[in-house]
Amino acid sequence: MLLLHICCGPCSFIPVKHLKANGVEFKGYFYNPNIHPLQEYLARREALTQVARLLDFEVIFDDAYDLEDFLTKVIFEPHRPKRCEVCYYLRLSKTAKKAKELGFSALSTTLLFSPFQFHELIRDIGEEVAKKEGLSFYYQDFRPYYYEGKKLAVEAGIYRQKYCGCIFSEKERFIKRLQKS
Ligand code: SF4
Repeated sequence: MLLLHICCGPCSFIPVKHLKANGVEFKGYFYNPNIHPLQEYLARREALTQVARLLDFEVIFDDAYDLEDFLTKVIFEPHRPKRCEVCYYLRLSKTAKKAKELGFSALSTTLLFSPFQFHELIRDIGEEVAKKEGLSFYYQDFRPYYYEGKKLAVEAGIYRQKYCGCIFSEKERFIKRLQKS
């Protein structure tokens, strides 16, 4: 059984379909204290419940929302890619610990779907945290299916976020608009 860390609903379509098509038993795990603000977190959480209903899979929602922990960890590394490395590590190490606690044998993440993330970093961290807990990391490059997954989310009317998640990425997404005006 595999624990699939899920960053958001739209990114889950392709990985979930892939796992199902390959007969891999899994449960989703939503742990994303990086998402800012809380209202946005709730919107993405709701989007995932819709996808889970649509594709019929179970999700464990970890709503600890450790924002203080996340910000404390990234505040001295506020720029990419270091900031993202810290963020991946926080989310994936928590997923690995949860997988171990619940008796899963493997983990993976929907972060492997996005061409806008640091893919190799995610793979390396996933392998590292899995090894630490005596689990395996299920690696698959889902990026070639990015536009297919995006289309599925649009067709299903699933909420699609406009920035990666943290307050820094929210600034990076909209700063150009401010500079233009
Ligand atoms: S840009 Fe995305 S991956 Fe990077 S720190 Fe922010 S939320 Fe995390």
